[in-house]
Amino acid sequence: MVDKLDMFCYQCSQTARGEGCTVRGVCGKVPTVARLQDNLIYAMKGISAYNYCANVLGARDTDVDEFLTKGLYSTLTNVNFDATDLIQLGLEAGEANIKVMKMLKEANIAAFGEPEPVEVKVGSQGGPAIIVTGHDLKALEELLKATEGTGIKIYTHSEMLPAHGYPGLNKYDHLVGELGGSWCDQKEIFSKYNAAILGTSNCVVIPKDEYADRIFTMDVAKLPDVPVIEDYDFQPLIDKALELGDMPEEETTTITTGFGLSTILSLADKIKELVEAGKIKRFFVVGGCDGINPKRAYYREFVENLPEDTVVLTLACGKFRFNDLDLGDIEGVPRLIDLGQCNDTIVAIDIALALCDLFGVELNDLPLTIVLSWMEQKAVAILWSLLALNKQDMYIGPIVPAWINDEMLTFLVDTFNLKVCGDAKEDIKDIMG
Ligand code: SF4
Ligand code: SF4
Repeated sequence: MVDKLDMFCYQCSQTARGEGCTVRGVCGKVPTVARLQDNLIYAMKGISAYNYCANVLGARDTDVDEFLTKGLYSTLTNVNFDATDLIQLGLEAGEANIKVMKMLKEANIAAFGEPEPVEVKVGSQGGPAIIVTGHDLKALEELLKATEGTGIKIYTHSEMLPAHGYPGLNKYDHLVGELGGSWCDQKEIFSKYNAAILGTSNCVVIPKDEYADRIFTMDVAKLPDVPVIEDYDFQPLIDKALELGDMPEEETTTITTGFGLSTILSLADKIKELVEAGKIKRFFVVGGCDGINPKRAYYREFVENLPEDTVVLTLACGKFRFNDLDLGDIEGVPRLIDLGQCNDTIVAIDIALALCDLFGVELNDLPLTIVLSWMEQKAVAILWSLLALNKQDMYIGPIVPAWINDEMLTFLVDTFNLKVCGDAKEDIKDIMG
């Protein structure tokens, strides 16, 4: 087995042996500095994804753009060898990500209204169909407009599920339901359903032969030999859906999504009463990315085993691990609240801050535990947003990011009491005391 590399950098001509600096940079960069630079780049990739989606809706923030430029420049050869400053830049990345998530949320609300809770049918309701995956709500809206009156049914997949909660999208009768769960099941789901498919953004995976001739992407999402929809001209996709004909109908189930800040705030008095009466003991945010690692069974086990006097806020595609569970409600307050896509972490943050106001306490004094599942770089940006808010005692899993070495982990544990998800029942016991 190859030993774990201390670092890896091959971005300049000085690189060791012309192959890569793996122990220490020829420039003098030490492993933790190299890794903190990688960390910063990953967080900036996440910020860029949200920034791009907000820009598509016409929203811009020069502070965010300037941070991205400064952050990238800081990772250039012979610029920044200071670990403390690179941690500070990580925290600034977190702050920039809060700004960009807020901007995207406001842009989504301006375009499509504030989400309202809605029950979404899961399963085929027949019809010639298009399955839409990814995060781009504007793309979905344009597709809904283009397919009106064609008889084509539009189904969401994965992170498109929350689209059903937006009044400006839910008003289309042919937006009929959801097929499948998180991005991880797309090979299975897209093979199973005889529909045309549109990948609007990440996360798309290399298609199987079974559906390679009926998948399209758009914008930044690209797949080898897969046609790209340009300028919202969906005609090739529509033609493909009509050519494929009807999908067989099947029995459907339902899941609920679409909780916005206003809906939760309308429950504020009731939540206060329930907390003061000891009927709600703790709030959890359990969310983030899904992935294929079997250790991700943790998240279902965690939510399933939570005491009945707890409330779970969730978001992003990690929720598909447990969003079929019926957790019921506590005197009208739902115990499982789906806030939307990963960028809707900003709604969870706004709810947490509203609860702080409600109870007159600081963030870390709230009975609130955050349990993050991470897979890709948006989750890195979100982690640093929560660290920038000085949120203590968070759990992260199912594995520690590979670029975090012992020195970085010690810093995160000592400064933020960050914990790695372990055994679900034991973790619950530790949290509930
Ligand atoms: S920047 Fe430094 S660590 Fe990276 S390849 Fe050049 S010499 Fe090596
Ligand atoms: S939440 Fe993360 S993993 Fe899931 S679809 Fe969105 S970007 Fe991909």
